[in-house]
Amino acid sequence: MTLASLVCADEYRPEALDRVDPSLHLKQGTTQVEAQKINDVIYKATGFGNTFMVLTNAGNVIIDTSLAAMAPRHKKLLTAVNDGPIHSIILTHAHGDHTGGVELWREADTKVIAQENMVEFLHYQKRLEGVFYRRNSAQFGFDLSSELEPVTKVENFAAKILPNTLFDEALNFSLGGQEFQLLHTPAETYDALTVWMPQHRAAFVGDLFYKSFPNIYTLRGTKPRWALDYVASLDKVLALEPELLLPSHGEPIIGQDNIRATLTQYRDAILYVHDQTVLGMNQGKDVHDMMRDIRLPANLEVGEAYGWVSWSVRGIYEGYMGWFDGDPASMYPVSSKSVYADLVSLAGGVDKVIDLARRLIAQDNAIKALHLVDAALEVEPEYRLALELRLQVLESLRKQSSNLNESGWLNHGIAQTKQKLAVRVTRN
Ligand SMILES: [Zn+2]
Repeated sequence: MTLASLVCADEYRPEALDRVDPSLHLKQGTTQVEAQKINDVIYKATGFGNTFMVLTNAGNVIIDTSLAAMAPRHKKLLTAVNDGPIHSIILTHAHGDHTGGVELWREADTKVIAQENMVEFLHYQKRLEGVFYRRNSAQFGFDLSSELEPVTKVENFAAKILPNTLFDEALNFSLGGQEFQLLHTPAETYDALTVWMPQHRAAFVGDLFYKSFPNIYTLRGTKPRWALDYVASLDKVLALEPELLLPSHGEPIIGQDNIRATLTQYRDAILYVHDQTVLGMNQGKDVHDMMRDIRLPANLEVGEAYGWVSWSVRGIYEGYMGWFDGDPASMYPVSSKSVYADLVSLAGGVDKVIDLARRLIAQDNAIKALHLVDAALEVEPEYRLALELRLQVLESLRKQSSNLNESGWLNHGIAQTKQKLAVRVTRN
């Protein structure tokens, strides 16, 4: 497993997964024995994400290339259908689960086509490689410590630039009897594109749609993802009136009415969360209150197996406003954690705090209990009782979780706490 294959490998197909194991997304499609025929010219290899091949009389077109670890299997499946020359590779965006197989597929004359913002996006991912590496490892449960090299310098513009053909808003071309229209559809990333094949009324939308509320904020960290970009891009795709929708994660959606209903609901869900957040901001509401209170109405319920509405609320809030919460105390480099020891002492010591945490757990208030345990551990980091209580809270939250990213970070917390318990405790 290489770093490049993981950085920003970010989306998945919820229905194909055991929700309790985030690392299982890497097993998607591994039982596929032959490429899926979508129609006479479009074939799909399933994975995290999918790879598509379009057959033309003048060479084939690959749309997205999956993770580096999955690309060899995808190439084998698709070239078994047709091993003609690869005229073009179209990348729907620069996340590693779409670009991992570029070098495997690329031939001497292959065009690698992307929206022009991909160049900066690749630099951004490379610039922050170290932190994305750590965050992805934690979120997806990989132990990659052996691959970590000490970071000693900053490289702002050091990415390998994969595409050799860039466009701004649109790019149209014909190849061997097939028409391709590429449209800039920014959403999850600002380089995102949609491939429209008018003869087939087929839209390859990359990660503009998958079967969950989108990751408008992702816990592994990201620049703001603009909700209104999603809305505008979904409108752009809706205006095409596709009869075949081919996302890079999950299965195709077939039928104009079905696609219109699905994308309209998705767009409206995103717009609802955006507008409720903006309304609350303008009314002076607290971001945590909005994270708790803003919920999708039943007719816009699209599921939260991957993205989560509450994280999106905060992502939208902070995307617009940045980190400052309006509290003068937050202006200074002294966090609220710095007074935990004083508060724990005032409360009568660590054991009193742990007692209160236990009572909160009994009252079904696990998150407050977690904060209290963290305060106790700030004072006494290796106290067995506090560590065990932390483990208990995290494991109970984990059992209730049906969100892949939440599960990933709870698993990470559980593993860290177990490790501390195994290594050293100062007091029993
Ligand atoms: Zn993806």
